[in-house]
Amino acid sequence: MRILISNDDGYLAPGINALADALATVADIVVVAPDSNRSGASNSLSLDRPLSVSKAANGFYFVNGTPTDCVHIALTGMLDARPDLVVSGINNGQNMGDDTLYSGTVAAATEAYLFGIPAIAFSQVHGGWAEVESAARVAREIVLRRFEMLESPFLLNVNIPNLPYDQIGPLVPTRLGRRHQSEPVIRSQDPRGREIFWIGAPGACRDAGEGTDFHATSKGCVSVTPLQVDLTHRDQLDLLRRGLG
Ligand code: MN
Repeated sequence: MRILISNDDGYLAPGINALADALATVADIVVVAPDSNRSGASNSLSLDRPLSVSKAANGFYFVNGTPTDCVHIALTGMLDARPDLVVSGINNGQNMGDDTLYSGTVAAATEAYLFGIPAIAFSQVHGGWAEVESAARVAREIVLRRFEMLESPFLLNVNIPNLPYDQIGPLVPTRLGRRHQSEPVIRSQDPRGREIFWIGAPGACRDAGEGTDFHATSKGCVSVTPLQVDLTHRDQLDLLRRGLG
């Protein structure tokens, strides 16, 4: 099995290093990741400048671009062989509910999915890297499951509790929950007195009921959400057809 690994926290992050170490024992891996933290980059491509690829001492490739740039470059010319699977992460913190729209971790996996390659995004529920080795072990088990019950390609969003390996609960199939709107922007001044803004924290959970990613991880289980890319609102499409008909 050939696996391409990327992330949005940058190639030096503990999460991608733990994931690469775990997967190198069961697959041929290539790591192509951003040169710096690009969390929140979503599905952005850099079209206003060229991108360069460098190789680190440990063999990881790093790119002065976004997670989507990394996977795009790897799949459209950089790699000699098409990977069987693309994995992203392990992210420094949860990607649940509305987070998935902003997430660079999910975006790297989504880029592979758009190219017809199965992909899995991995995140730890809490940032700070506690129990990242346990999460990497769980990630390897998930990769080895192969998900033959799903149509290929599939796109899975996985969130893993920060618990010791033997305390992590089973895999639970989930849907995305929903958050309240984000916390307000933080207004401040730069050293020259100009007004600056820091984007605020995500909102608290609004829909964290049974069956959601928030609910599963709150019980210590591993949340596995199958994602799709089609954003069409089917009910409103029907209403629109009737209303405009
Ligand atoms: Mn991140």
